[in-house]
Amino acid sequence: MFYDRAKIKVQAGKGGNGCASFRREKFVAKGGPDGGDGGDGGDVVIVASRRLRDLAYFQHKRHFRAGKGRPGEGARKHGRRGDDLEIDVPCGTQVLDEDGMLLADLVAEGQRFLAARSGGGGRGNCRFTTSTRRAPKFAELGLAGEERTLSLELKLLADAGLLGFPNAGKSSLLRRISRARPKVADYPFTTIAPMLGTVEDEETHQQFTVADIPGLLEGASRGVGLGDEFLIHLERTGLLIHLLDVTGYYQQEPLENFIAINRELQDFSSQLAARAQLVAVNKVDLVDSRQAEAVRSQVSMEVARRCKSGDPAFAWLLERADGDTEAVNGEEAVLLVSAATGAGLEQLMRLSFSLIQDAWEEQPLQMEDAPEGHKIYRPGVDERWQVEAEGDHYRVRGEVVERIVARTDFVNEEAVAYLQERLEKLGVSDRLRAAGAQPGDDVVIGDMEFEFW
Ligand code: GDP
Ligand code: MG
Repeated sequence: MFYDRAKIKVQAGKGGNGCASFRREKFVAKGGPDGGDGGDGGDVVIVASRRLRDLAYFQHKRHFRAGKGRPGEGARKHGRRGDDLEIDVPCGTQVLDEDGMLLADLVAEGQRFLAARSGGGGRGNCRFTTSTRRAPKFAELGLAGEERTLSLELKLLADAGLLGFPNAGKSSLLRRISRARPKVADYPFTTIAPMLGTVEDEETHQQFTVADIPGLLEGASRGVGLGDEFLIHLERTGLLIHLLDVTGYYQQEPLENFIAINRELQDFSSQLAARAQLVAVNKVDLVDSRQAEAVRSQVSMEVARRCKSGDPAFAWLLERADGDTEAVNGEEAVLLVSAATGAGLEQLMRLSFSLIQDAWEEQPLQMEDAPEGHKIYRPGVDERWQVEAEGDHYRVRGEVVERIVARTDFVNEEAVAYLQERLEKLGVSDRLRAAGAQPGDDVVIGDMEFEFW
């Protein structure tokens, strides 16, 4: 299967707790507070990478958790920050929340999306000394990291397209080259279900996707709707692999087939026709080597002719010859292969990889409207909060207030007293009173329930 969708759960790291401790020194009876802060947790960040081509990885791994922050220690030692977790996704991945709202569109290599924000570390007790509170025996708790369920959808597809008449062996080739690891599958978003395969280099794990475009050409000439969506994906195609049957097609010589397909391609889309092209003469197992070489040299001459007359599909040959027209003979662009026996396919893949990489380097501008750097689609902590009557109790809602409560260590009386102090300062009691709260009423903030007094 070619996977273009996945659902994942991301959880940022919890912040480390602050430390409550006191200095101990020889001959000093009672040292001052010296508890350090807890470290912040790690973030979960989604990063676009060109190395990947589909979302297959996420069919097996769905849960992603960043590192926890370490607790603070005595002698004002702060806890270490938790490790961030980076999740690589292919360029072209969109991130959506559970309601299908688009959060990020990761188009360009290295683009980042903060998927889950870490919990902050708690402050150590030495932070709470005031003129009246000389020896605070409490510290803050670290906050929980954010946790979210996200959908990933891959929008950009084929790096290479297969071109050729029916029966040239496109489907066979696609199956063959993606046999080792990646899979071939029908891709069900148009009426004509083009084939897509992911090819992976065993050593570098670099992936590229190949699509059976000729199916599309056939569909187009039969008037079948292609769907703008798929055409948009094809705009990114950096390479066309033109497959020719060495025995010809419809009593035509392979060379005539080659010219005919290129004519049809030009009519279909001049933009696609300008993509780098290489030729794979297929089914060489059916003929003797002399016949195969004869076809190769005929097609090579036509390729060289096109290159010299400025056909952008073969401009790459001229580049590789350092602009020396005389050095171009076209043979570099024409390979003899057999989808049946596998002959020549390794060389074909190697050349394909290298041409696709050239295309990536040449067209980074296609993605220039992608925003740079660390993209955060959500604002920081919302300072607003409100009091609501809710059944038989009152609820205080708002991120600032909920955070203060979440940081409180409720088994520590002093910490609770400090919490009351802070809520008082924020004006929470005043607003509760204004809303009608009486002493003894229940008040809920976040996960905690209090008695109002
Ligand atoms: P497509 O129409 O371009 O997708 O072509 P297919 O992959 O369906 O192949 C058409 C026919 O040619 C099938 O019967 C294949 O088995 C056969 N075929 C494809 N590649 C080769 C090859 O390299 N050698 C031989 N002998 N037959 C091949
Ligand atoms: Mg086919």
